[in-house]
Amino acid sequence: MKENLMNHFIFKQFFLLWIVLFNAFFISSAVRAEDFYAVKRAQMIKAIEADVRTGYGNLAKKELDENVIKALNTVPRHEFVPKKLQQSAYDNRPLPIGHGQTISQPYIVAIMTNLLGVGKNDRILEIGTGSGYQIAVLAELVNKAYSIEIIEPLGKEAKARLQRLGYDNISLKIGDGYYGWEEHAPFDAIIVTAAASHIPPPLIQQLRPGGRMLIPVGSRFMVQELLLVEKTEEGKISTQQLLPVAFVPLTGKH
Ligand code: SAM
Repeated sequence: MKENLMNHFIFKQFFLLWIVLFNAFFISSAVRAEDFYAVKRAQMIKAIEADVRTGYGNLAKKELDENVIKALNTVPRHEFVPKKLQQSAYDNRPLPIGHGQTISQPYIVAIMTNLLGVGKNDRILEIGTGSGYQIAVLAELVNKAYSIEIIEPLGKEAKARLQRLGYDNISLKIGDGYYGWEEHAPFDAIIVTAAASHIPPPLIQQLRPGGRMLIPVGSRFMVQELLLVEKTEEGKISTQQLLPVAFVPLTGKH
């Protein structure tokens, strides 16, 4: 009886020790992984800044705003790509996210965010949620962000991911972004992350006077031109060609 109690006591102690060691191992590997990605993120930002300094296209700014760098440094891009590609998440290139779609190249996300020039009181709209990465970067800078995705499974995945990461200032919808999101208009800024054949009139209409829109316009599966569309306080529209880009097409029945 005494021996049984002793054995039970030893077993319990051993079991507790095993749990402590097991947890310590997993916590330290999680910390190591976060450190690894923080280093990768810093390297990604260095690569983007070098590209921005070299500059191409008709870009006036040769450096990123401090708040854009901070946002890029905050959003965990590795959480937005498929598990098997996490190690490559911070390479300066687009990556596949399933359903024939891609998460945009970090450089493109950075310059589009910079060009949009958003502020902390702004309400913005993105067309083409994809993984949710671009809207997460923008959500770091604005008051309220909306995004529309046409492929239902991608939209659902992005919604779950953004909720898990705690982005409570983002609202997502599944639908054809060509028509915008009338209910929440006007928007201070609109960003379209799929290539359109023309600027959708509903998006121009939903842009606030004084607001700006970035949209790649051109042929499907070819190089397009990134346009900056501005609406004056009087409602006049001007467009400016900024640089050649390559986006997947804006689909839908419009
Ligand atoms: N911004 C995304 C990110 O950060 O991962 C990348 C966008 S990906 C290059 C383009 C996305 O636009 C795809 O997910 C595609 O399904 C979506 N898309 C294409 N046409 C659309 C439409 N009419 N309305 C809404 N989304 C659309």
